[in-house]
Amino acid sequence: MRKIEIKVSSSSRNQMIEITGDVRKTVSDSGVKDGIMIVYTPHTTSAITVNENADPDVYKDMTGFMNRLVPEDTSFRHMEGNSDSHIKSSLFGCSEHFIIEDAQIQLGTWQGIYFCEFDGPRTRKVWVKIISG
Ligand code: ZN
Repeated sequence: MRKIEIKVSSSSRNQMIEITGDVRKTVSDSGVKDGIMIVYTPHTTSAITVNENADPDVYKDMTGFMNRLVPEDTSFRHMEGNSDSHIKSSLFGCSEHFIIEDAQIQLGTWQGIYFCEFDGPRTRKVWVKIISG
């Protein structure tokens, strides 16, 4: 089965966008009952992560903390001026993997899958690869 592409549009420079519903749809569309999946973003200034999706203050705190940890205005060498975005991307990582059982992604009660934008606003890609087995 070939990879599936999800498009994500961000509206600010740093933003966490929940994509759990889009990722669940790729599993139901695939017809796979048991397997594993990779959720991957092919950009150098974005990331994929899993965290709480019950209280929106959690992801607001996370992006706020990341901005304090890696400020935009330090004197980085990279001439494009977005080294903070590249650093944040590598700190979070560009992929997560999941277990599929009974045609469902196995997530904890409070877990959601997030696309992390660190150099928006932009339209981005998320690739999903599902392996049955
Ligand atoms: Zn750059």
